[in-house]
Amino acid sequence: MREALLYEKLKDSRVCCHTCQWRCIINPDKFGVCRMYHNQSGTLYNLNYARPSSVAADPIEKKPLFHFFPGTQVFSFGSWGCNFHCQDCQNWEISCPEDISQPSSSREIQPDEAIKLTKRYHCDGIAWTYNEPSIWFEYTLDCAKLAKKENLYTVYVTNGYLSPEALDAIGPYLDAWRVDIKGFSDAFYLKLAKISNWRGILDVAKQAKIKWKMHVEAVTNIIPTLNDDDQQLRGIASWIRDELGELTPWHVTRFYPAHYMMDLPPTPTQTLERACNIGKEAGLKFVYTGNVPGHQNENTVCYSCGRLIVQRFGYQTKLAGLKDSHCQFCGAELNFKRL
Ligand code: SF4
Repeated sequence: MREALLYEKLKDSRVCCHTCQWRCIINPDKFGVCRMYHNQSGTLYNLNYARPSSVAADPIEKKPLFHFFPGTQVFSFGSWGCNFHCQDCQNWEISCPEDISQPSSSREIQPDEAIKLTKRYHCDGIAWTYNEPSIWFEYTLDCAKLAKKENLYTVYVTNGYLSPEALDAIGPYLDAWRVDIKGFSDAFYLKLAKISNWRGILDVAKQAKIKWKMHVEAVTNIIPTLNDDDQQLRGIASWIRDELGELTPWHVTRFYPAHYMMDLPPTPTQTLERACNIGKEAGLKFVYTGNVPGHQNENTVCYSCGRLIVQRFGYQTKLAGLKDSHCQFCGAELNFKRL
Protein backbone atom coordinates (compact mmCIF):
# COMPACT_ATOMS: atom_id res chain seq x y z
CA MET A 1 0.00 0.00 0.00
CA ARG A 2 1.31 3.46 -0.87
CA GLU A 3 -0.18 6.96 -0.65
CA ALA A 4 -1.41 8.08 -4.06
CA LEU A 5 0.67 10.68 -5.84
CA LEU A 6 -2.02 12.54 -7.75
CA TYR A 7 -5.06 13.42 -5.70
CA GLU A 8 -6.76 16.33 -4.05
CA LYS A 9 -8.17 16.50 -0.54
CA LEU A 10 -11.77 17.77 -0.41
CA LYS A 11 -14.18 18.75 2.36
CA ASP A 12 -15.46 16.12 4.80
CA SER A 13 -12.49 13.77 4.20
CA ARG A 14 -13.47 13.14 0.59
CA VAL A 15 -10.73 13.00 -2.06
CA CYS A 16 -10.54 13.41 -5.85
CA CYS A 17 -8.14 11.00 -7.60
CA HIS A 18 -6.36 12.47 -10.61
CA THR A 19 -4.50 9.34 -11.72
CA CYS A 20 -6.83 8.64 -14.61
CA GLN A 21 -9.49 10.48 -16.52
CA TRP A 22 -12.34 9.15 -14.37
CA ARG A 23 -11.19 11.63 -11.70
CA CYS A 24 -13.18 9.73 -9.09
CA ILE A 25 -14.48 11.65 -6.08
CA ILE A 26 -14.19 9.11 -3.26
CA ASN A 27 -15.92 9.22 0.12
CA PRO A 28 -14.10 8.03 3.26
CA ASP A 29 -13.69 4.25 3.40
CA LYS A 30 -14.71 3.89 -0.26
CA PHE A 31 -12.89 2.91 -3.47
CA GLY A 32 -12.58 4.54 -6.89
CA VAL A 33 -13.98 2.93 -10.04
CA CYS A 34 -10.84 0.75 -10.35
CA ARG A 35 -11.25 -0.52 -6.76
CA MET A 36 -7.51 -0.18 -6.25
CA TYR A 37 -7.43 3.34 -4.83
CA HIS A 38 -8.97 3.57 -1.35
CA ASN A 39 -9.85 6.61 0.74
CA GLN A 40 -8.72 5.99 4.31
CA SER A 41 -9.81 8.89 6.56
CA GLY A 42 -9.13 11.49 3.87
CA THR A 43 -5.86 10.03 2.59
CA LEU A 44 -5.89 8.16 -0.73
CA TYR A 45 -3.91 4.93 -0.93
CA ASN A 46 -3.05 2.64 -3.80
CA LEU A 47 -3.51 -0.96 -2.72
CA ASN A 48 -1.50 -2.49 -5.55
CA TYR A 49 1.95 -1.09 -4.85
CA ALA A 50 4.57 -3.82 -5.48
CA ARG A 51 1.88 -6.54 -5.62
CA PRO A 52 1.98 -8.08 -9.10
CA SER A 53 -0.60 -10.59 -10.26
CA SER A 54 1.55 -11.85 -13.14
CA VAL A 55 5.24 -11.67 -14.05
CA ALA A 56 6.88 -13.08 -17.19
CA ALA A 57 9.67 -12.57 -19.70
CA ASP A 58 7.84 -12.02 -23.02
CA PRO A 59 8.88 -11.29 -26.60
CA ILE A 60 8.30 -7.58 -27.22
CA GLU A 61 6.17 -8.65 -30.22
CA LYS A 62 3.60 -10.06 -27.77
CA LYS A 63 2.62 -6.58 -26.51
CA PRO A 64 2.27 -6.14 -29.58
CA LEU A 65 5.11 -3.76 -30.42
CA PHE A 66 6.55 -4.50 -33.87
CA HIS A 67 8.77 -1.45 -34.43
CA PHE A 68 10.27 -1.20 -30.95
CA PHE A 69 13.45 -3.14 -30.24
CA PRO A 70 12.32 -6.08 -32.42
CA GLY A 71 13.43 -9.54 -31.32
CA THR A 72 14.11 -8.50 -27.70
CA GLN A 73 12.60 -9.85 -24.51
CA VAL A 74 10.71 -7.57 -22.15
CA PHE A 75 10.09 -8.29 -18.48
CA SER A 76 6.35 -7.91 -18.03
CA PHE A 77 4.36 -7.08 -14.93
CA GLY A 78 0.60 -7.04 -14.36
CA SER A 79 -1.31 -6.06 -11.24
CA TRP A 80 -4.91 -6.31 -10.06
CA GLY A 81 -7.98 -4.38 -11.18
CA CYS A 82 -8.71 -1.98 -14.02
CA ASN A 83 -10.30 1.40 -14.60
CA PHE A 84 -12.21 -0.07 -17.58
CA HIS A 85 -14.57 -2.99 -17.29
CA CYS A 86 -14.60 -4.16 -20.88
CA GLN A 87 -17.19 -6.73 -21.85
CA ASP A 88 -14.60 -8.62 -23.90
CA CYS A 89 -11.70 -8.55 -21.40
CA GLN A 90 -9.27 -11.41 -22.06
CA ASN A 91 -7.59 -10.96 -18.65
CA TRP A 92 -10.72 -10.63 -16.51
CA GLU A 93 -9.32 -12.95 -13.81
CA ILE A 94 -6.87 -10.23 -12.79
CA SER A 95 -8.68 -7.11 -13.99
CA CYS A 96 -12.09 -7.60 -12.36
CA PRO A 97 -11.59 -7.90 -8.61
CA GLU A 98 -15.36 -7.95 -8.08
CA ASP A 99 -15.37 -11.27 -9.94
CA ILE A 100 -12.57 -12.86 -7.91
CA SER A 101 -11.14 -12.95 -4.44
CA GLN A 102 -7.90 -11.08 -4.55
CA PRO A 103 -5.23 -13.48 -3.27
CA SER A 104 -3.76 -12.12 -0.05
CA SER A 105 -0.63 -14.19 -0.58
CA SER A 106 0.43 -12.22 -3.69
CA ARG A 107 4.23 -11.86 -3.48
CA GLU A 108 5.64 -8.35 -3.15
CA ILE A 109 8.25 -7.25 -5.68
CA GLN A 110 9.73 -3.88 -4.78
CA PRO A 111 11.06 -1.69 -7.63
CA ASP A 112 14.74 -2.55 -7.05
CA GLU A 113 13.90 -6.25 -7.19
CA ALA A 114 11.86 -5.72 -10.37
CA ILE A 115 14.96 -4.29 -12.03
CA LYS A 116 17.13 -7.15 -10.78
CA LEU A 117 14.64 -9.70 -12.16
CA THR A 118 14.56 -7.91 -15.51
CA LYS A 119 18.32 -8.28 -15.78
CA ARG A 120 18.44 -11.81 -14.38
CA TYR A 121 16.06 -12.94 -17.14
CA HIS A 122 18.20 -11.17 -19.78
CA CYS A 123 15.46 -8.73 -20.78
CA ASP A 124 16.26 -5.41 -22.42
CA GLY A 125 13.32 -3.59 -20.91
CA ILE A 126 10.35 -3.64 -18.62
CA ALA A 127 6.62 -3.43 -19.45
CA TRP A 128 3.49 -2.86 -17.40
CA THR A 129 0.91 -4.91 -19.16
CA TYR A 130 -1.80 -7.62 -18.79
CA ASN A 131 -4.02 -5.09 -16.99
CA GLU A 132 -4.05 -1.29 -16.99
CA PRO A 133 -0.72 0.20 -15.73
CA SER A 134 -2.33 3.33 -14.29
CA ILE A 135 -3.96 1.14 -11.63
CA TRP A 136 -0.58 0.98 -9.88
CA PHE A 137 0.75 4.24 -11.17
CA GLU A 138 3.05 4.97 -8.21
CA TYR A 139 4.78 1.60 -8.60
CA THR A 140 5.24 1.94 -12.36
CA LEU A 141 6.73 5.41 -11.86
CA ASP A 142 9.22 4.24 -9.24
CA CYS A 143 10.22 1.26 -11.40
CA ALA A 144 10.51 3.38 -14.55
CA LYS A 145 12.89 5.82 -12.83
CA LEU A 146 15.16 2.95 -11.76
CA ALA A 147 14.90 1.26 -15.17
CA LYS A 148 16.15 4.37 -16.99
CA LYS A 149 19.16 4.58 -14.63
CA GLU A 150 19.95 0.98 -15.61
CA ASN A 151 19.57 1.68 -19.34
CA LEU A 152 16.48 -0.49 -19.74
CA TYR A 153 13.61 0.53 -22.00
CA THR A 154 10.15 1.06 -20.49
CA VAL A 155 6.72 0.31 -21.94
CA TYR A 156 3.10 1.03 -21.00
CA VAL A 157 0.53 -1.31 -22.57
CA THR A 158 -2.50 0.81 -21.86
CA ASN A 159 -6.11 1.66 -22.53
CA GLY A 160 -4.84 5.23 -22.74
CA TYR A 161 -7.09 6.69 -20.02
CA LEU A 162 -4.24 7.99 -17.83
CA SER A 163 -4.70 11.66 -16.92
CA PRO A 164 -2.54 14.25 -18.72
CA GLU A 165 -0.79 15.20 -15.48
CA ALA A 166 0.01 11.54 -14.69
CA LEU A 167 1.52 11.21 -18.15
CA ASP A 168 3.60 14.31 -17.51
CA ALA A 169 4.89 12.73 -14.29
CA ILE A 170 6.00 9.49 -15.94
CA GLY A 171 6.73 10.88 -19.42
CA PRO A 172 10.46 11.50 -18.81
CA TYR A 173 10.93 7.82 -17.90
CA LEU A 174 8.69 6.07 -20.44
CA ASP A 175 9.83 5.02 -23.93
CA ALA A 176 6.79 3.36 -25.51
CA TRP A 177 3.05 3.94 -25.40
CA ARG A 178 1.21 0.89 -26.74
CA VAL A 179 -2.32 2.18 -26.71
CA ASP A 180 -5.68 0.61 -27.47
CA ILE A 181 -7.94 2.63 -29.70
CA LYS A 182 -10.84 0.30 -29.17
CA GLY A 183 -13.31 1.99 -31.48
CA PHE A 184 -14.31 5.37 -32.82
CA SER A 185 -17.82 6.15 -31.61
CA ASP A 186 -19.55 7.21 -28.41
CA ALA A 187 -21.95 4.28 -28.64
CA PHE A 188 -19.16 1.72 -28.95
CA TYR A 189 -17.04 2.93 -26.02
CA LEU A 190 -20.17 3.23 -23.85
CA LYS A 191 -21.31 -0.28 -24.67
CA LEU A 192 -17.87 -1.87 -24.32
CA ALA A 193 -16.53 -0.12 -21.24
CA LYS A 194 -19.02 2.54 -20.07
CA ILE A 195 -16.59 5.26 -21.15
CA SER A 196 -18.12 8.48 -22.47
CA ASN A 197 -15.03 10.71 -22.70
CA TRP A 198 -13.12 8.35 -25.00
CA ARG A 199 -11.62 11.20 -27.02
CA GLY A 200 -9.47 11.96 -23.97
CA ILE A 201 -7.59 8.77 -24.89
CA LEU A 202 -6.65 10.31 -28.22
CA ASP A 203 -5.46 13.55 -26.59
CA VAL A 204 -3.18 11.67 -24.19
CA ALA A 205 -1.78 9.49 -27.01
CA LYS A 206 -0.88 12.69 -28.86
CA GLN A 207 0.73 14.04 -25.71
CA ALA A 208 2.82 10.85 -25.40
CA LYS A 209 3.97 11.15 -28.99
CA ILE A 210 4.49 14.88 -29.38
CA LYS A 211 5.39 16.18 -25.93
CA TRP A 212 7.25 13.13 -24.61
CA LYS A 213 8.55 11.75 -27.92
CA MET A 214 7.49 8.22 -27.04
CA HIS A 215 7.30 5.46 -29.58
CA VAL A 216 3.57 4.88 -30.13
CA GLU A 217 1.79 1.87 -31.61
CA ALA A 218 -2.00 1.49 -31.64
CA VAL A 219 -4.16 -1.63 -31.38
CA THR A 220 -7.79 -2.17 -32.32
CA ASN A 221 -9.33 -5.48 -31.36
CA ILE A 222 -12.02 -5.91 -33.98
CA ILE A 223 -15.26 -7.28 -32.56
CA PRO A 224 -17.84 -8.55 -35.07
CA THR A 225 -20.89 -6.23 -35.37
CA LEU A 226 -19.57 -3.73 -32.78
CA ASN A 227 -16.55 -1.91 -34.20
CA ASP A 228 -16.00 -3.63 -37.56
CA ASP A 229 -17.86 -1.06 -39.67
CA ASP A 230 -15.95 0.94 -42.27
CA GLN A 231 -16.84 4.23 -40.62
CA GLN A 232 -15.15 3.48 -37.29
CA LEU A 233 -12.15 1.79 -38.93
CA ARG A 234 -11.68 4.77 -41.28
CA GLY A 235 -12.04 7.12 -38.33
CA ILE A 236 -9.26 5.37 -36.39
CA ALA A 237 -6.94 5.09 -39.39
CA SER A 238 -7.41 8.74 -40.39
CA TRP A 239 -6.88 9.93 -36.83
CA ILE A 240 -3.63 7.96 -36.49
CA ARG A 241 -2.40 9.32 -39.84
CA ASP A 242 -3.25 12.95 -39.00
CA GLU A 243 -2.23 13.07 -35.34
CA LEU A 244 0.46 10.40 -34.82
CA GLY A 245 1.85 10.22 -38.34
CA GLU A 246 1.60 7.81 -41.27
CA LEU A 247 4.56 5.73 -40.01
CA THR A 248 2.74 4.80 -36.79
CA PRO A 249 2.04 1.04 -36.70
CA TRP A 250 -1.64 0.05 -36.37
CA HIS A 251 -2.45 -3.50 -35.26
CA VAL A 252 -5.92 -4.85 -36.08
CA THR A 253 -6.38 -7.97 -34.00
CA ARG A 254 -8.75 -10.91 -33.99
CA PHE A 255 -11.35 -10.93 -31.22
CA TYR A 256 -11.93 -14.21 -29.40
CA PRO A 257 -15.09 -14.72 -27.32
CA ALA A 258 -14.32 -13.98 -23.66
CA HIS A 259 -15.81 -12.75 -20.37
CA TYR A 260 -19.26 -11.22 -21.08
CA MET A 261 -18.93 -11.55 -24.86
CA MET A 262 -19.15 -15.28 -25.37
CA ASP A 263 -22.04 -14.97 -27.81
CA LEU A 264 -20.06 -13.40 -30.66
CA PRO A 265 -17.86 -15.37 -33.09
CA PRO A 266 -14.11 -14.82 -33.54
CA THR A 267 -13.33 -12.11 -36.08
CA PRO A 268 -13.22 -13.52 -39.62
CA THR A 269 -9.86 -13.18 -41.36
CA GLN A 270 -11.58 -11.30 -44.20
CA THR A 271 -12.68 -8.59 -41.74
CA LEU A 272 -9.09 -8.13 -40.56
CA GLU A 273 -7.92 -7.92 -44.17
CA ARG A 274 -10.60 -5.32 -44.90
CA ALA A 275 -9.39 -3.31 -41.89
CA CYS A 276 -5.81 -3.53 -43.20
CA ASN A 277 -6.95 -2.25 -46.58
CA ILE A 278 -8.83 0.63 -44.95
CA GLY A 279 -5.68 1.56 -43.02
CA LYS A 280 -3.53 1.46 -46.12
CA GLU A 281 -6.07 3.45 -48.18
CA ALA A 282 -5.98 6.08 -45.43
CA GLY A 283 -2.22 6.33 -45.95
CA LEU A 284 -0.86 4.31 -43.02
CA LYS A 285 2.38 2.60 -43.99
CA PHE A 286 2.31 -0.22 -41.42
CA VAL A 287 -0.94 -2.05 -40.68
CA TYR A 288 -0.65 -5.50 -39.13
CA THR A 289 -3.10 -8.31 -38.44
CA GLY A 290 -2.88 -9.84 -34.98
CA ASN A 291 -3.88 -13.20 -33.48
CA VAL A 292 -3.63 -14.88 -36.91
CA PRO A 293 -0.18 -16.55 -36.83
CA GLY A 294 1.34 -17.02 -40.26
CA HIS A 295 -0.74 -14.35 -41.98
CA GLN A 296 1.36 -12.36 -44.44
CA ASN A 297 0.16 -9.12 -42.83
CA GLU A 298 2.36 -9.94 -39.80
CA ASN A 299 5.43 -9.01 -41.86
CA THR A 300 6.94 -5.57 -42.30
CA VAL A 301 7.31 -4.68 -45.97
CA CYS A 302 8.98 -1.46 -47.14
CA TYR A 303 6.26 0.93 -48.34
CA SER A 304 8.71 2.47 -50.78
CA CYS A 305 10.41 -0.46 -52.57
CA GLY A 306 8.17 -3.37 -51.53
CA ARG A 307 11.00 -5.53 -50.12
CA LEU A 308 10.59 -7.70 -47.01
CA ILE A 309 12.05 -5.95 -43.94
CA VAL A 310 10.96 -8.07 -40.96
CA GLN A 311 9.53 -11.57 -41.27
CA ARG A 312 7.29 -12.73 -38.40
CA PHE A 313 5.43 -15.84 -37.41
CA GLY A 314 3.52 -15.22 -34.21
CA TYR A 315 6.19 -13.95 -31.83
CA GLN A 316 9.16 -15.19 -33.89
CA THR A 317 11.01 -12.42 -35.67
CA LYS A 318 13.63 -12.46 -38.41
CA LEU A 319 15.19 -9.18 -39.48
CA ALA A 320 15.58 -9.32 -43.25
CA GLY A 321 16.23 -5.79 -44.45
CA LEU A 322 16.58 -3.29 -41.63
CA LYS A 323 19.48 -0.87 -41.33
CA ASP A 324 19.09 1.25 -38.18
CA SER A 325 15.57 2.60 -38.70
CA HIS A 326 15.75 2.46 -42.51
CA CYS A 327 15.14 0.05 -45.37
CA GLN A 328 18.55 -1.38 -46.24
CA PHE A 329 17.52 -1.64 -49.91
CA CYS A 330 16.14 1.82 -50.68
CA GLY A 331 16.85 3.86 -47.53
CA ALA A 332 13.22 4.70 -46.66
CA GLU A 333 12.59 5.71 -43.03
CA LEU A 334 10.62 2.93 -41.32
CA ASN A 335 10.15 4.26 -37.75
CA PHE A 336 12.00 1.53 -35.83
CA LYS A 337 13.59 1.88 -32.39
CA ARG A 338 16.56 -0.46 -31.97
CA LEU A 339 19.32 -1.35 -29.57
S1 SF4 B 1 -7.15 5.53 -10.96
FE1 SF4 B 1 -8.92 6.29 -12.10
S2 SF4 B 1 -10.56 4.84 -11.65
FE2 SF4 B 1 -8.99 4.52 -10.08
S3 SF4 B 1 -9.60 5.85 -8.38
FE3 SF4 B 1 -8.18 7.03 -9.64
S4 SF4 B 1 -9.48 8.21 -11.05
FE4 SF4 B 1 -10.76 6.51 -10.18
